[in-house]
Amino acid sequence: MKLSGRVASVGASVTIATSARASQMRAEGIDVVSFGAGEPDFDTPQFIKDAAIAALDAGDTKYTPRTGKLLVQAIADKLARENHLRYAAEQIVVTFGGKHALYAACQVLIEPGDKVLLPVPYWNSYPEMVRLAGGEPVLLRAGREGGFKITPKQVLDAGGDAKILILNSPSNPTGAAYTPGELAEIARAAIETDLIVFSDEIYEKLIYGGTKFVSFASLDERLMERTITFNGLSKTFAMTGWRLGWAAGATDVIAAMKRLISHETTNPVSFAQAGALAAYTSPEAAGAIEAMRREFEKRGRHMADRLNAIDGVECVQPSGAFYCFPDISRHYGRKIGQAEVTDSLTFSAAAIEQARVALVPGAAFGEDLCVRLSFATSMEQIDKGLDRIKSLLD
Ligand code: PMP
Repeated sequence: MKLSGRVASVGASVTIATSARASQMRAEGIDVVSFGAGEPDFDTPQFIKDAAIAALDAGDTKYTPRTGKLLVQAIADKLARENHLRYAAEQIVVTFGGKHALYAACQVLIEPGDKVLLPVPYWNSYPEMVRLAGGEPVLLRAGREGGFKITPKQVLDAGGDAKILILNSPSNPTGAAYTPGELAEIARAAIETDLIVFSDEIYEKLIYGGTKFVSFASLDERLMERTITFNGLSKTFAMTGWRLGWAAGATDVIAAMKRLISHETTNPVSFAQAGALAAYTSPEAAGAIEAMRREFEKRGRHMADRLNAIDGVECVQPSGAFYCFPDISRHYGRKIGQAEVTDSLTFSAAAIEQARVALVPGAAFGEDLCVRLSFATSMEQIDKGLDRIKSLLD
């Protein structure tokens, strides 16, 4: 069949493709170490599961037309308590994962030809979402030398022409997190150039080395009207499969997103909402989150140290999320085994085929000098995978 022009050029997610290749090799009995995961390796905390099970048992199995009033209020309370953001219930929409919220916001705000500023490296779904809405991504390079962060000057230079800036701190794929001071400067540049800002705060709770997380919209009163804050339960509560996310912002934008979603997915899964309500209201939550955060911090530091000890590999210590994003480009132009390595794709292919280690090529995130390794896996797997990469490159 002839596909619509809209989707014909959309590529499949390379991150998902990497995991699929690793699973396929495993199914063939090959012992693969996967650093491809974009999700916590922890299980969802039991108190959250219990709340969902109780909801199922109580017959909470129908459409939820007034999408979880209690959940929306719990999110509003969380935003006020933890993020110093005051949103009314009608300024919040609950979606099928954070990804869905970002997609819907793009559909609601982007007109054909609108320019959207996108720091590079970017999370691989952003450019596709922007293009699917008819927008044009304008790439702002944030190299390793600058800690993978854009500068206010880049925003000032490109902002006048653009409608939206997408920020993601802590970042997938780099693990970089802006300091409150750096964010405040970006905020001033965004106000001066009259940009709408999408602040993707999905890795809010995974932040390390004493870096303090602040919500972008809380930095200046004038940001409330021009920022949409995105978040969700996937990373914070190890709930990727539950598909629960949300957005908070100006009432008219949120209302438009709700209208769109009413024809798309109707409501998030009823009993999953009950789990999310427990996640945001239970006194057990803080301890569960902190235990996972502490473990990720330890693994991230260890992985970055081990990467930096390998010849020709340079890795910035991650300040957040669960990714290392080392520059491996000093190996380009050499032969590894039988393979010519010329870029992040051929490097990653050599890693999986010859060392049985799954990495994600940086090209998927717009930065071909690097590869992404997720440390959402055990210390034992981290050591095993890095031993293999070290012997591959020696
Ligand atoms: N934003 C970023 C930066 C992400 O890495 C992800 C997950 N990979 C998401 C949003 C979406 O997560 P979810 O749809 O599971 O909430």
